Amino acid sequence: MSNKYDVIVIGSGPAGYVAAIRAAQLGLKTACVEKWRDKDGKGVNGGTCLNVGCIPSKALLDSSHKYHEAHAAFGGHGISTGDVQIDVPSMIKRKDKIVKQMNSGISGLFKANKVDSLFGSGKLLAGKKVQVIDADGNESVYEAENVILASGSVPVNIPPAPVDGEVIVDSTGALEFQEVPERLGVIGAGVIGLELGSVWGRLGSKVVCLEALDSFLAIMDQTIAKEAKKILTKQGLDIRLSCRVTGTEVVEKGGKKEVVVTYTDQDGKDATETFDKLIVCVGRRPFTDGLLSEDCGVKLDERGSIYVNDLCSTSAPGVWAIGDVVRGPMLAHKGSEEGVMVAERIAGEKTVMNYDIIPNVIYTHPEIAAVGKTEEQLKADGEEYKVGTFPFIAIGRAVAADEGEGMVKMIAHEKTDRVLGCHIVGPNAADLVQQVAIAMEFGSTAEDIGLTVFGHPTFSEAVKEAALAVNGHAIHMPNRKKR
Ligand SMILES: Cc1cc2nc3c(=O)[nH]c(=O)nc-3n(C[C@H](O)[C@H](O)[C@H](O)COP(=O)(O)OP(=O)(O)OC[C@H]3O[C@@H](n4cnc5c(N)ncnc54)[C@H](O)[C@@H]3O)c2cc1C
Repeated sequence: MSNKYDVIVIGSGPAGYVAAIRAAQLGLKTACVEKWRDKDGKGVNGGTCLNVGCIPSKALLDSSHKYHEAHAAFGGHGISTGDVQIDVPSMIKRKDKIVKQMNSGISGLFKANKVDSLFGSGKLLAGKKVQVIDADGNESVYEAENVILASGSVPVNIPPAPVDGEVIVDSTGALEFQEVPERLGVIGAGVIGLELGSVWGRLGSKVVCLEALDSFLAIMDQTIAKEAKKILTKQGLDIRLSCRVTGTEVVEKGGKKEVVVTYTDQDGKDATETFDKLIVCVGRRPFTDGLLSEDCGVKLDERGSIYVNDLCSTSAPGVWAIGDVVRGPMLAHKGSEEGVMVAERIAGEKTVMNYDIIPNVIYTHPEIAAVGKTEEQLKADGEEYKVGTFPFIAIGRAVAADEGEGMVKMIAHEKTDRVLGCHIVGPNAADLVQQVAIAMEFGSTAEDIGLTVFGHPTFSEAVKEAALAVNGHAIHMPNRKKR
């Protein structure tokens, strides 16, 4: 194997592996360095997303949803199942099998595209050299015309709740429970906390989410956040806002460990709660440990992210950075698109990325999804806008599927009618919001979406109706504005 490459990518998460494949497709000799090892100690690609993030969490969300449906919803359809049981170790094994399958999918794509996979820890040295130390401690140094840093992120730890991997876990540990905790605490009612809380709540845990902020899902449109909170609370998630955890103590009771959590509640009073397991989900931080030599020329910003410009160039010429390790939302698809942009730029193309249209999804049931600006952002920006909302309860397909909870909220510019944002809590919200993202990429107005023929009966009719409602033309609901 030659030690010279056109492109070396460090990190094979959704940002890095996509960048590597795209670079190789464009004829660039490419290698991807990865230090992740699976449970058997084998080097694997896919990063956080594939190994302990998006994919395994969705595998458990799907399993727990099926269990919950069989347990609580099948009866309403006239289906009796007898006593429904959950075998947690089997559910976890299924999740592991899916992860393995996807790991080998990336290896297959690397082979097909002639990307060299280098397993080991990568470090950027001066002069675009990359040192790789493999699992046996062997060191190799490679040279590249361009280096792409895609080292991702890791969970944030907080001093009052040190993760012990047994009773107090982070998001990774919460994907590995071998039995359903009777009492589950979650610190942080953000995206990951809600998803993992939902998994175990559906399987029978009594879940309490302690959130330090005083508003629920502060970055989401607040109409949708309020509706989502109502739905999730009805499902049994005990979401407590303005509750700041101040300490934890793991104690043994009746031969079993449990954790006593102390926190200040919404009235500023000290409170305690005892759980069998506690998940710490207070966010993620960019990961650069051991990645950069002192003289490599790459600078970090004040938050510890690698500093990049809009095109993901770092402060060192020929060195780029993408994904969770740079500014912007920590989302797999954001990193992947940056990977494509950077690979194409290296190949001499003029690709740019539209940071204004990045969908964002929370995979609770129903899903919560958004693209574009929230009403709160538009208000703060002093924009003139108009809003159309439409509830799923007025959509035949949703009623037929017992999925009538939630709504679509569409926001368009008051004068031009151009769609500025769409926010959904409801069935298949992730896929529905993507339709609006495409429309927004093409500069669609609300009227354009309203004039589009949507299949019937579909959940997506709620998107069309919300778009019609923007101008007072909704059909299956009385309009507030009549035009
Ligand atoms: C439980 C959970 C659920 C999530 N669900 C979603 C979701 O539904 N949708 C979504 O968009 N996002 C989701 N995310 C976030 C998503 O996983 C991340 O945004 C995404 O993985 C970031 O991609 P990345 O390639 O930048 O970094 P990562 O996926 O973190 O990959 C970085 C890789 O770089 C490797 N690396 C780091 N340093 C070195 C080094 N020095 N040498 C060699 N290799 C190195 C790491 O081992 C890792 O494999 C979720 C995250 C979690 C934890």
